Amino acid sequence: MKIDILTLFPEMFSGVFGSSILKHAAEKGHVSYNVVDFRNYAQNKHRKVDDYPYGGGAGMVLMPQPVFDAVDELVKDQNSKPRVVLLCPQGERYTQKKAEQLAKEEHLILVCGHYEGFDERIREHLVTDEISIGDYVLTGGELGAMVIADSVTRLLPGVLGNETSAVTDSFSTGLLEHPHYTRPADFRGMKVPDVLLSGHHENIKKWRHEQSIERTKKRRPDLLND
Ligand code: SAM
Repeated sequence: MKIDILTLFPEMFSGVFGSSILKHAAEKGHVSYNVVDFRNYAQNKHRKVDDYPYGGGAGMVLMPQPVFDAVDELVKDQNSKPRVVLLCPQGERYTQKKAEQLAKEEHLILVCGHYEGFDERIREHLVTDEISIGDYVLTGGELGAMVIADSVTRLLPGVLGNETSAVTDSFSTGLLEHPHYTRPADFRGMKVPDVLLSGHHENIKKWRHEQSIERTKKRRPDLLND
């Protein structure tokens, strides 16, 4: 998979793409990340990409031209049509289901807004999806793009050592995941449930499933109605 990110702050991404599972996924060729500063597409000598809103009001608005030109460049010579995702607090709320859907694509372009937002024509005529990572307002779409890149990358075949680990994660099954324990079996008097030490795989599987249901009922009953 190829993930292009259009941003005015490319330096924000080096930590995330240069660490841990995302770094290894790129090194092994499962994914390639391409962070593009769309200021490079500005057509004025000050490389200005925003302007005052028509009609007045606070804040600056990202102009359509640099974003359209950057996307045109990224899609030219491509056989498949990429999904162009705009990070936007007014978009569809991001979920694991959406991550699974995006992970099936060959090419994603993530567009990060900033300042007051972006010219409406970007939303109307350029993007295929608008995604919000939650009901709050961030200063820019960069953190959202990182959330999408991370959650999608870990679903790509071969990225996680054990392929089943993503399958049993919370939300993938429609439930929250069961609790985990590791050594020691007794830590300051807090004991690991006996069943996990029993070596009886069927009973462990049953216990985990019951725990998943119990947790979901308690913490996220809304998931049981989906
Ligand atoms: N004025 C806009 C509004 O009220 O809808 C908010 C603009 S926000 C300060 C600047 C940029 O941050 C947005 O264009 C978007 O790219 C990004 N952003 C902010 N909150 C977000 C969220 N919850 N999910 C995804 N992107 C977000």
